[in-house]
Amino acid sequence: MTQLTWGLIGASDIAETGMIPALRRVGARIAGVASGNAEHARRFAERNEIPTTTSDFSLDALLGDPAVQAVYVSSTNEQHLAHASAAAAAGKHVLCEKPLSTDLEAGRQIAATCAAHGVVLGVNHHLPAAGTHRTVRRLVGDGAVGRVLSVNVRHTSLLPERLRGWRLSGVAGAGVVMDLSCHDASVVNPLLGTRAVEATAMTVKQGRWETAAEDAASSVLLYDDDVLVRLHDSFTTPYTPSYLEVHGELGSITARGVMTPQPVGDVFLSDGSGEREIDVPDRRHPYDVTLEEFSRAVHGDGRPVVDGRDAVNALAVCLAILESARSGRRAAVEFTPTS
Ligand code: NDP
Repeated sequence: MTQLTWGLIGASDIAETGMIPALRRVGARIAGVASGNAEHARRFAERNEIPTTTSDFSLDALLGDPAVQAVYVSSTNEQHLAHASAAAAAGKHVLCEKPLSTDLEAGRQIAATCAAHGVVLGVNHHLPAAGTHRTVRRLVGDGAVGRVLSVNVRHTSLLPERLRGWRLSGVAGAGVVMDLSCHDASVVNPLLGTRAVEATAMTVKQGRWETAAEDAASSVLLYDDDVLVRLHDSFTTPYTPSYLEVHGELGSITARGVMTPQPVGDVFLSDGSGEREIDVPDRRHPYDVTLEEFSRAVHGDGRPVVDGRDAVNALAVCLAILESARSGRRAAVEFTPTS
């Protein structure tokens, strides 16, 4: 398959540490970067060997480049709407970082603008692309645990020092819920394939740092058919292994160490025959899978692993968690059914 030529919107840490290496692994070309800070962008481009065709690194220059077929938006969350919409209007396919936006209206607007301009929208919720997560979905789909009754997710680590900027600030889109719970929701929503109904949650500021946003959250979600989902997300615990558990009438799945962008972790199934490890056939990096599926979708074959509606629904879960934590009451999830 012909690989796409990409423009980067946002000279960000994740572009540098995650997406640029992935674009190069899959053989894609990077044509330029747009940023709000030319000096920062110049250094970024130099470090990452990105061609610099303009001196100002402006959005207009990048979007005006006919060679650019797709853009990767990794600016801060509150800028996703403006950046993704401008790219779509310029006819560029959009792979946007998560969360798609900071409110549902903006998320829906991005999806609608991409659809109106006939460009593909994918969102880099990379976990659903991971071989471990696809193995868990396959097991559930094949009925290995029977009727699903509950799902538990632990997604915790110590926020690296270099990332303790806007995530711990008061800006819209800061905090652990928008950062990590939205990944959990992107996993649980397609795993259950049903509607998230309501959330009840508590959030705290427990790190030994100054923070205006929550840095740990414990949430319980109700999905259709009385399925209970429990999430523990934090920036504050350095040594806690992550997991995804699915418990059903006939068995339980435990996927250990899988809430990570790395292609690692193991899947175990327990049922009447005891516990056994399940083979994970695909150990490609989740970012590579995301890029490959996105590229295929641009060429008219299939859809991105996570599309606009999936991302809006992940966001809807997060917003309900935040609303419940704020109000001390249950909060309804504004979920958009898939059909
Ligand atoms: P960064 O703070 O590294 O970058 C965000 C923006 O801040 C950049 O786009 C850039 O603005 C500006 N910036 C960063 N460093 C400098 C600097 N030294 N000088 C001037 N400006 C600077 O954010 P992250 O990479 O942590 O996150 C970016 C996006 O990616 C967010 O939406 C986040 O949620 C998402 N993300 C997703 C992950 C995933 O697991 N899928 C993991 C990490 C992040 P400009 O746009 O003007 O260049």
